[in-house]
Amino acid sequence: MSWEIYTIPELGPHLQNFMQIYEIHKIVECPDKKPKLKSKHDRICRFCKKQYPKVRFRKDAHVIPRLLGNRFLVSDFECDSCNEKFGRFENDLSDFIGITKTIFQTKGQNNKVPSFRAPNDVLTATRINAFNIQNSIEIRKKNVDDENLIINDSSGEITIKYPKRPYRPFNVYKAFLKIALSCIDDEDVINYCGAFNILTNGYMSESVKGLARIYKYSITVGGGKDKPLLFIYKKRNAWLNFPTYFFALHFQNSCYQFFPPFYRADKFVYDQDGAPYPICPPISTEPFPQDVKYNIECVDLSSGDLEKEDEETVVLKSGLNDVESIIGIDPVTRRQSTSKYSSDKIVGVILVPAKTVITFEE
Ligand SMILES: [Zn+2]
Repeated sequence: MSWEIYTIPELGPHLQNFMQIYEIHKIVECPDKKPKLKSKHDRICRFCKKQYPKVRFRKDAHVIPRLLGNRFLVSDFECDSCNEKFGRFENDLSDFIGITKTIFQTKGQNNKVPSFRAPNDVLTATRINAFNIQNSIEIRKKNVDDENLIINDSSGEITIKYPKRPYRPFNVYKAFLKIALSCIDDEDVINYCGAFNILTNGYMSESVKGLARIYKYSITVGGGKDKPLLFIYKKRNAWLNFPTYFFALHFQNSCYQFFPPFYRADKFVYDQDGAPYPICPPISTEPFPQDVKYNIECVDLSSGDLEKEDEETVVLKSGLNDVESIIGIDPVTRRQSTSKYSSDKIVGVILVPAKTVITFEE
């Protein structure tokens, strides 16, 4: 099968290099209805290897976490006890991801958009119905002088900066690993024993801790995906000194890249820094806007300690280049303010769906 894919214009050569080494093996999409699954009585858990009725399969086991917006992609190979255990990793994943779940209106548990609160409420994001428009998102900072929310008058960009809620990095890594191991082919389960061990025993020795890292691309919000999409790449030549499979999870405005370690046929030596491997620029089946900006970071997720110092910056592209057209809204009454808009006096912004026309009461 062939796919027409695009990347950020300036990363074209980078994508070409990557595609010389890897090819797309599989694309995992989130469907609009549940797939047909095996009868519960015939199920075996891929993770603990136990079979019904020793373990139960009552709960929906999401292949990609519910909190990432996957509602229907569920598996028939994850028992209730493993599901419960992985749920704890997903709580850390949720705090690691932070505010974008709310900004993108990703529906999670109970099909609701979660609210977001940074520690000490320095920044909050909530879905509201304002000006008779449903599905707006209000982002507010605690104090007018705080730098958690800044509008750049000349570019129209809105920069949001906040401390993340504390999370355990190694649990976040395991949440990603679990997604990957839920999406590998059945015949490869046996080849990934080492990776399954990390997930089920929760342990990674000091000497290979460097493997517990992921690369994260983020692009300016304005583009992005409403449902997660996972690309599984396979290296074209078995003798190449790179991981056999490589995973890229596209989610909202980010793309997380990593590989499950210890694949049986991967012969290279894993060392403390992990293994060098090529990463893929963000791709899409539609062209990216010419002016899209991106950022890439390598995130070390090897620590089992609570991370309390992590900060996140999200840039929203508002398209409001004409500052004159911005109107001020009284934060209390939510009516049009009589005073003139000034970027240093804002406490919050309200994001409304694209192409919305707002009419204010007199
Ligand atoms: Zn299990």
